[in-house]
Amino acid sequence: MNFGHKYFLLFCIFYDSNYLAPVYLLRNVKPYLFPGSNRKDAINSYEIKTGLKKIKRCGLRLTGRFCLRLSMKNVLELTVQRISLFILLALPVTLYSGCDSDSQPAKPASPPAPKTVAAETPPVNGPMADAATILHRTEVPILCYHQIRDFKPTDSHTAKDYIVPVANFREQMKLLADSGYHSILPDQLYDYLAYGKALPSRPVMITFDDTRLDHYTIAIPEMKKYGYKGVFFIMTVSLGRPGYMSKEQVKQISDEGNIIGSHTWDHHNVKKYTGNDWMIQVEKPSKQLADITGKPVEYFAYPFGLWNKESIANLKRYKFKAVFQLSDRRDENDPLYSIRRVIIPGEWSAAGMLRVMKNSFR
Ligand SMILES: [Zn+2]
Repeated sequence: MNFGHKYFLLFCIFYDSNYLAPVYLLRNVKPYLFPGSNRKDAINSYEIKTGLKKIKRCGLRLTGRFCLRLSMKNVLELTVQRISLFILLALPVTLYSGCDSDSQPAKPASPPAPKTVAAETPPVNGPMADAATILHRTEVPILCYHQIRDFKPTDSHTAKDYIVPVANFREQMKLLADSGYHSILPDQLYDYLAYGKALPSRPVMITFDDTRLDHYTIAIPEMKKYGYKGVFFIMTVSLGRPGYMSKEQVKQISDEGNIIGSHTWDHHNVKKYTGNDWMIQVEKPSKQLADITGKPVEYFAYPFGLWNKESIANLKRYKFKAVFQLSDRRDENDPLYSIRRVIIPGEWSAAGMLRVMKNSFR
């Protein structure tokens, strides 16, 4: 790095440039990270393109901090090797740790483009993938919501983990759209995991448990703004009760392209089922939901996210294509029956949600 480079960096630091400095650094210093490769190759590499896209989109607060730290260490004294090492450390953080923290989205909110972009794996025809292959595929972030309503004074701290205030939910959906996420449905996820079919770019699945009326009155209208569809895991005992969706509403959201899954009859823990419990909690609710929607019920979510190997073996008798838990480790033999989701606590920011999506699903 010559003096021209250093003065340019200092200029960026003093003028608080969050954009020029990192781009300049990547374009001029990056080749040192890959000795033997020429600059053009390095700049054209996937990593650089991705990094630059992120830089442009996020306004790059992180890299702003990076510049500041360069300043504190006195950039004039840094050797090229030190700067290269710093970039090497900073770049993965930039790429993966959510540089979106409270930055202004660069793109306006708009319905996701209908285009389909190839996922990491090309479409594959043939036999279903084995467990190891499924576990090896990049996980799709799956959000799990319960209540969408404003907090009440009586809500405990724990309860707030399951209640997302309306404004927060709106902000979360908007940030997903602004960040280019496309909502996918369980069939797409299944085809991707089991057969390697392509997904839209930046896929996310948005799921709702427990049949709450606010899913119908608040969540769905909000999601419609961005062309998003959701997955609704219904406990059939609550259908038509005050504060819960009616059969007609479930039928309507199914007709509108959302997916209806089973969440048992009355939310008992599947690990404790014996005898008739399977018929009461799984067989009958699936039949009732199929009667309501006119479609087979192919997906199931464990109440409380609790499951074990015995419950997987029992659920297989009902031919679910996939079963969803919360955030435990997936089963090594049956990853499709232990698909991970993350609950977004009500007090989290939208940016926090995005960070967890990136960090928790890999
Ligand atoms: Zn539940």
